[in-house]
Amino acid sequence: MTKHVVITGANRGIGLGFVRHYLAKGDRVSACCRQPAQASALIQLAEIHANLNIIQLDVTDDVSVHALPQHLNDAAIDILINNAGYYGPKGIGFGQLRAAEWQKVLAVNTIAPIMVTQICYPMLQKATNAKVICISSKMGSMADNQSGGSYLYRSSKAGLNAALKSLAIDLSSEEIYCLAFHPGWVQTDMGGPNALITVNEAVDQMARCIENLDATQSGQFLNFDGQQIPW
Ligand code: NDP
Repeated sequence: MTKHVVITGANRGIGLGFVRHYLAKGDRVSACCRQPAQASALIQLAEIHANLNIIQLDVTDDVSVHALPQHLNDAAIDILINNAGYYGPKGIGFGQLRAAEWQKVLAVNTIAPIMVTQICYPMLQKATNAKVICISSKMGSMADNQSGGSYLYRSSKAGLNAALKSLAIDLSSEEIYCLAFHPGWVQTDMGGPNALITVNEAVDQMARCIENLDATQSGQFLNFDGQQIPW
């Protein structure tokens, strides 16, 4: 059966990879991005895929987030992928931290995915076994942190993981399943050219895990290949 998949940060990188993946499967895709008029890859895809809808969404902008249900015609959402992310300024270590920059990273990576999920909640409830996917990072893992630094990004993804856990528990009685992913070190603008895997490799493996996601796995933090990651 075809599904309705909503993806944030869908104009490039991993988000665009998810768009391509679900379009190829024949699913209906709502691709959300900050500047639709500049989203050339999405515009090209929309010319050949009638099942692609491009939607304006800045995940940190309240007005934009509140307009989402109307853009989606309040339709049932089977899979919501909270993918939009921001690393923040690079090379900022202890001693140079600035609260305003930190707040920006927290706004995109920690707060926005939950606010977007909250506004989508009535549409998630309309689907059977809807799935909420948050693209997190192993850099948010406390157990994995051997090198310190990256205060802004690490704390933002750790916060996302904590919120995702609560979400999974709170939505379990309605059989809405939630997952946090480390997508791997992926060749995108954020991952850089030396990253270990392509967008397609990361997306194909995560999509397989999403397909198999059920109540037993809801609330977990998984590597893109399905292995559990310690918090
Ligand atoms: P990119 O930098 O390539 O893309 C980031 C995407 O997020 C862009 O579409 C960008 O839109 C969007 N975005 C940023 N801020 C906002 C906002 N306020 N509102 C809406 N969209 C926004 O990153 P990746 O594709 O590599 O990353 C995708 C996710 O994967 C992120 O959550 C990232 O943290 C995570 N991740 C990536 C890793 C990697 O190796 N690549 C490793 C671990 C985690 P715009 O074009 O308008 O800026």
